[in-house]
Amino acid sequence: MTRRISILGATGSVGTATLDLVGRAGDGKFDIVALTANRNVDALAAIARKHRPQIAVIGDESKADALSQALAGTGIETAAGPKALIEAASRPVDWTMAAIVGSAGLEPTAAALQKGAAVALANKECLVCAGEYFIDLAEQRGAAILPVDSEHNAIFQSIYPGHDRFIRSITLTASGGPFRDWPREEMTAVTREDALAHPVWSMGDKISIDSATLMNKGLEVIEACRLFGLPSQKVGVVIHRQSVIHGLVEYIDGSVLAQLGSPDMRIPIASALAWPERMDTPSERLDLASIGQLDFEPPDEIRFPALRLARNALEAGEGATAALNAANEIAVAAFLDGRIGFLDIARLVSDCLNGLEREAALPNRFGGLDDALHVDKRARDWTRAALSSVDA
Ligand code: NDP
Repeated sequence: MTRRISILGATGSVGTATLDLVGRAGDGKFDIVALTANRNVDALAAIARKHRPQIAVIGDESKADALSQALAGTGIETAAGPKALIEAASRPVDWTMAAIVGSAGLEPTAAALQKGAAVALANKECLVCAGEYFIDLAEQRGAAILPVDSEHNAIFQSIYPGHDRFIRSITLTASGGPFRDWPREEMTAVTREDALAHPVWSMGDKISIDSATLMNKGLEVIEACRLFGLPSQKVGVVIHRQSVIHGLVEYIDGSVLAQLGSPDMRIPIASALAWPERMDTPSERLDLASIGQLDFEPPDEIRFPALRLARNALEAGEGATAALNAANEIAVAAFLDGRIGFLDIARLVSDCLNGLEREAALPNRFGGLDDALHVDKRARDWTRAALSSVDA
């Protein structure tokens, strides 16, 4: 049976990997309703010509004409702007890939869940910024949230149906990023290129920087607690440089179940795309004998303070985690633009959280998505103002 799907963030690393699988699945398996991007008209037009969605949407309104010209004569509808993204995400489908980066993905992902479709959640920011809202929304609308982050997908796969009540703890693995063996003093001189050169995974710029600071693992701890309904103490992190084991679940009887696979995002994406079945992927088969050895070590929260910051925000509540995420997005963009150094990223996020708390206490729970977007804006404004005083 043909499944109708939409891909939000279709030009990105996760979006492109999803389209690769869709293309390989062959005619008749998937019918694409919407493909979206933010500014990259050429890439969006190219994938739209290839995959023939009903509609292609560009987030940046100033690119509306460029997109409609690029797709003129194809019969593919085009639209632009944040409202058009939400409208496209609301179109009836069986499955949506939520792979917009950052809190820009919140409203389109909420629109997809509103329709009750299965949502493959790559955008961890939804659960980091407004976890309770998204989990409740999915439950109310009967929509499945299928985790795409490789660690969460591994844990999802390792929970035997009905056995979630027997979980003692879960563990997220982390490659450790490009600076896993660097002394902290040397990290002051890290360049954009150093930080983007991830030793294992090939990903978009934002998440690559987050992997280098370990903020990504911090965001994932928050995501895991909210997705699996566990307290912070039950969600561990272990550095595992080979990135072969992606996540582990320990049950009360001492059994530990884990999911293994080559570090290729097409594996967790395929597991969400074919769910509740399985599909073929071109990913490299896992050859344990040639890998030979798997290493594990605890994360170093002195060299990588972002992990501790994220756990503290999780303890403080949703206001703090939404602010952490927003401040980090602005700080990472400033690092990528050469405005601040690598170690300034976590420092700026920490200053923002303290600064916002001094202004007015951050709520520990949100009443709805608007509350989350309000805190998101407060944190962005605070961080931008702090950056302007650094630039001045
Ligand atoms: P990329 O930066 O590669 O792609 C992001 C996508 O979102 C692009 O299509 C981009 O469009 C679009 N986009 C960016 N900003 C906006 C905006 N303001 N409004 C609408 N669309 C926007 O990101 P990734 O694919 O790496 O990551 C996507 C999400 O998945 C993130 O939340 C990330 O944390 C998560 N994730 C990613 C993994 C990976 O391996 N890459 C692994 C696990 C999770 P354009 O091309 O036009 O800029």
